Amino acid sequence: MAGIYIHIPFCRQKCYYCDFYKTVNTSLKQKFLTLLNEEAKVRKNYLENETVETIYFGGGTPSVLTTEELDNILWNIDANYSISPDAEITFEANPDDLTPEYLNGIKSTGVNRLSIGIQAFQNEHLKKMNRRHDATQAEEVVRKAVETGFNNISVDLIYGLPGLTDEQWKESLQRVFQLPVEHLSAYHLTYHEGTPFFTWLKKGTLKELSENESVKQFNILVEMAEQAGFEQYEISNFARDALYSRHNSSYWLGKKYLGLGPSAHSYNLLSRRWNVSHVESYVRGLEAGSDYFEEEILSNKDHYNEYILTRIRTKWGVLLSDIRQNFGTEFYDYLLKQVAKYKKSGLVLLSEGKLLLTKEGLFVSDEIMGDLMII
Ligand code: SF4
Repeated sequence: MAGIYIHIPFCRQKCYYCDFYKTVNTSLKQKFLTLLNEEAKVRKNYLENETVETIYFGGGTPSVLTTEELDNILWNIDANYSISPDAEITFEANPDDLTPEYLNGIKSTGVNRLSIGIQAFQNEHLKKMNRRHDATQAEEVVRKAVETGFNNISVDLIYGLPGLTDEQWKESLQRVFQLPVEHLSAYHLTYHEGTPFFTWLKKGTLKELSENESVKQFNILVEMAEQAGFEQYEISNFARDALYSRHNSSYWLGKKYLGLGPSAHSYNLLSRRWNVSHVESYVRGLEAGSDYFEEEILSNKDHYNEYILTRIRTKWGVLLSDIRQNFGTEFYDYLLKQVAKYKKSGLVLLSEGKLLLTKEGLFVSDEIMGDLMII
């Protein structure tokens, strides 16, 4: 079982907080699409003919693609890989792109899961982030998507935004839980170097929420999600009726995946590989048959660290039997020694051979992970 991630590196405009690789210059779009198909062909053996269970279009903004362009990418993937008949095909989209015609078009290509970037339900915050849609539009689009026949919809929200009050955060969550959506990804704002938000923070023109305020918003999220019947299956991900993101879950459960397009990462259980984060270099590399990626062969220690990093924040947790079997007694003993430090902290839970973070532990997961990993 494997997954394919496809990075569409174009955006109509840049959001002020975002550090994903993207460009607003679409002059190379046609060339990019041709070479994306070429990359999919050239790398057809990467997954060693394993059945592809999930395909994920991320970016950038996949909804800058026309329906025909999307169809062409999927057709080429289908021609080169063994795709499961019930594969999850997720398409990230911005609300302003999802017209009724476009929704119909993408539905006809076989996309069966939408991930809609709503981010907030207050127009003042949407403007501050430089988003192109407004709150009403976001709600209308979700309802239209359901009318079109989509029955697996995820929305993204951001909390910890500068000036976001608890009341506004509660309002956003309420509005999401009233919508016919099955999944919520809610991320705390990160100030990434190189983004306008980071610059404004450094200049003091933008004020970061305090740690206490952030923890409070995280707790509001967890409580309201639970009340609405959404299960927290990963620190930032919540699902109704076990409709987890199969694609992201496969990352967390250590499955193989192939990443196509600039900045996309791939993993084949032995090595990790990442494409250059630059459309021009990507296109040039593929045209010339020269390298457009870097690769790292993973050591036993890397695999152990990766396992801790991906599993500890999920409901599946770290299985001690996996650690002993896959990484040996040295790593197993190290982990138990590190976990012992947290025995009375109430931050981790070790039960029936499974290590999990508690609700309190989830918020300081980076610190705990750092302690459990081997540097
Ligand atoms: S958040 Fe999405 S739409 Fe906004 S700049 Fe980043 S990739 Fe583009």
